[in-house]
Amino acid sequence: MTPIISPGATIGVLGSGQLGRMFTLAARRLGYHVHVFSPSKNTPAGQLADLEIQAPYDDFEAIESFARHVDVVTIEFENVNVEAIEVIQRFVPVRPGCRVLRTTQRRDNEKAFLAGIGVPVAPYASIRNLAELQSTSPELFPGILKTAGWGYDGKGQVRLSSIADAQLGWRSLGVQAAVLEKLIDFALEFSVIVARGANGEMAHYDPILNRHENHILSVSVSPSGLTLKIVKEAVEIAHSIAEQLDVVGVLCVEFFLTKDARVIVNELAPRPHNSGHLTIEAHATCQFEQQVRAVCGLPLGSTAQLRPAAMANLLGDLWMDGEPRWEVMHLMKNVKVHLYGKSEWREGRKMGHLTAQAESATAAEELVSIARQSLV
Ligand code: ADP
Ligand code: MG
Repeated sequence: MTPIISPGATIGVLGSGQLGRMFTLAARRLGYHVHVFSPSKNTPAGQLADLEIQAPYDDFEAIESFARHVDVVTIEFENVNVEAIEVIQRFVPVRPGCRVLRTTQRRDNEKAFLAGIGVPVAPYASIRNLAELQSTSPELFPGILKTAGWGYDGKGQVRLSSIADAQLGWRSLGVQAAVLEKLIDFALEFSVIVARGANGEMAHYDPILNRHENHILSVSVSPSGLTLKIVKEAVEIAHSIAEQLDVVGVLCVEFFLTKDARVIVNELAPRPHNSGHLTIEAHATCQFEQQVRAVCGLPLGSTAQLRPAAMANLLGDLWMDGEPRWEVMHLMKNVKVHLYGKSEWREGRKMGHLTAQAESATAAEELVSIARQSLV
């Protein structure tokens, strides 16, 4: 049995964005202290944490001092140097650990791992240079070229219609190691979030339907309306990935459902996920509390859904002409507003989200979309 890290202890978080903020809220509700570490100041998570440490992830002195003052470390951002994790592990457990991060930090490693354990992924090739791109199989076009590291919210991606686009595409990505993936003509996208404890206990949320705009998540809806067969297949895949990666914490598996009803894994996130924000209101235990429980060795909570729900992201674009019209909030009696405390808006930047609950998934999605629209 892994010893329990009891309330009153201090959890360290690498990364300090909105995921860290919502994690911090859950951790503090459970009586934990939180120290966050990131290169930025006055961050969404840092504003609510007991301590905000501002230092680069490769400042190993700062990393060591951070590790000495906490009881366990988790992440809200997976692109932290593995060397930093190794330093922390000399003092306290890091959950999830190095193996998970090494695999999910790079798309090429992640794809090779998934394919290796027999999980269906889009046809792809690892690309190290332009010559390799120009000599890949024409079968992979039209495709999406994605940088192997550091991509998020569609950044570091370029669509290539044919091999003729190779040179321009390669240049526009900044000439880095990449993965070329065949474009999947999917019917829909969904995700499965699973929590796994240090003793191997697992709890998953039922699939959440995701609608993207410009490669950024726009709306998530649950229940998903997927057939039982597809739900079963996806949940089995998510469990098997969490187990084989030996995740301790929360793992999100993003899926495509093809038009001929095949389930394909798009990518992994070894942490709570934007699509799981609706679990804060709609489920017995939210994804952030599950992360707290998993990393502290507490038994996981119930993932039962209480009411149909939908979440809509509030992107920086909404601030383009000044503050959103908060005066319409009196029309949002069944809509919860979450804002992340970011002082500057940018186009496409996640500033907050709305969650609506209603008698059906369709009604919740309609409500949340109208609510977001009315803020413009
Ligand atoms: P990110 O790290 O930015 O979330 P993803 O690989 O998940 O990167 O890509 C973002 C979105 O772009 C996906 O959710 C999907 O809508 C679209 N996309 C990515 N890869 C493919 C693909 N191979 N075929 C079709 N659409 C894709
Ligand atoms: Mg994604």
